Amino acid sequence: MASQLTGPVRVRFAPSPTGFLHVGGARTAIYNELLRKSLGGAHILRIEDTDKERSDDAMTRQIIEALAWLGIEVDEGPFLQSANLQDHTAAAQRLLAEDKAYHCFRTAEELDEKRKEILGRGDSYRYKTAFDPPPREEVERRLEAGEPYVVRFRMPDEAIVVEDIVRGDVHFPEESLDDFIILRSDRTPTYHLSVVCDDISMGVTHVIRGEDHLSNTPKHIGLFRALGADLPRFGHLPLILGADKKRLSKRTGATSVEEFRAQGILPQALYNYLCLLGWSPGDDRELMDRAELIEAFTAERLGKTHGVFDVDKLKWMNSHYMASTPLDEILEHLAPFLEEAGLADADPELLRHVVELHQGRSKNLVELAEGIRHYFQESLEYDLEATKKFRKQPELPEMLETLATRYAELDDYTVESTEKAMRDLIAELDVKLGVLIHPTRFALSGSKAGPPLFDLVVPVGRERGQRRFADFIRFLRENPVTPEG
Ligand code: GLU
Repeated sequence: MASQLTGPVRVRFAPSPTGFLHVGGARTAIYNELLRKSLGGAHILRIEDTDKERSDDAMTRQIIEALAWLGIEVDEGPFLQSANLQDHTAAAQRLLAEDKAYHCFRTAEELDEKRKEILGRGDSYRYKTAFDPPPREEVERRLEAGEPYVVRFRMPDEAIVVEDIVRGDVHFPEESLDDFIILRSDRTPTYHLSVVCDDISMGVTHVIRGEDHLSNTPKHIGLFRALGADLPRFGHLPLILGADKKRLSKRTGATSVEEFRAQGILPQALYNYLCLLGWSPGDDRELMDRAELIEAFTAERLGKTHGVFDVDKLKWMNSHYMASTPLDEILEHLAPFLEEAGLADADPELLRHVVELHQGRSKNLVELAEGIRHYFQESLEYDLEATKKFRKQPELPEMLETLATRYAELDDYTVESTEKAMRDLIAELDVKLGVLIHPTRFALSGSKAGPPLFDLVVPVGRERGQRRFADFIRFLRENPVTPEG
């Protein structure tokens, strides 16, 4: 168990803009933000865009937007790592000058051959021990001649222990560590050099990142020390696995924040869900909003085991947030879905009313937009299969006609008056309530599910309701189910 962390902290989230924000990355950002919020300090956003071939400005924008959508706050940045390349190169020059790094003229073929030879003998390959360093004069001569080279960092001859906040001490024996490239042959710095230089210049105190970086950390520790900087604390988060128990990938469904957003998941649900996938508040609470999570968060309870992404649980959480999120906020998140459903210009007053009626009954925003669409449609399509039960009742059209007439004649068209009219008619006809309730719901909304019938009747409106009764009655009469089926 790691020692208690104290603040203030300077943490950073450092995504590479090579794709949409993965939920694993989003979770890393969440833990960084929670650490910052609970201990004070700063959360820095640094876009690691130095791999120009794979990085993309559109992805940078997308990542920033996805973080904002999730409600993750940053205090500093976004900074582009590419803006600092000169500083990274200067650091490499310093390391060269101090003999903590050296020029390496070996070609890829040479390295490959040597590696094969050593592995063929059954020994393990390390650059460090595989080659003797060339004499100084040779290096000078080859530099002068303009021969291509890379710059390698001279890894100290010692074991390195990563004191990991999440995993405890992780030992890297000396033999597992090797000299590594910090400047490529085109003089661009590698990830290892850039990340350490930026962490130093940004005063990062805690590096919280994915476990896939754990093997990089001894390299980084070597660089921090060689550059004379204090070491940050490190914490490596276990991976998120898919239902197949392998690293979460497209095989088992959505992986990016963007995809869940498009599925109509609310940001607070995804935030809550991701946070609990690798951390627990120490009690059995599951539904916790951001404020509660900030209040309860301690890095000491970050788990070591891989979390398995459980889509059903996320959906369950989302249903909860659909019901509990204030109407105005729901409307804000619903806007793109309304647009997609052709409801961008829907009457705002009616919209508020029906969203409020439906939000707690919808599992997600897609379903919500779908569920309220009918209030704004001129006419409905009635499905033959879904109406079979109604079409089997020859007396139903007439009963609905009577109800429609009574509704047309009501003084006030309200929840109470429409309910009373129906109950009176039920009593007169001496039938069960369901005999009229279900087909009326279907006639008015085109659906068997939804809010209580009389809550729905009013927003559909009297006039539109009359048209729907007439359409549905005609539909029933035109499509009776004959006794043979
Ligand atoms: N840019 C790296 C990535 O996206 C993260 C580097 C770090 O957190 O140190 O995987």
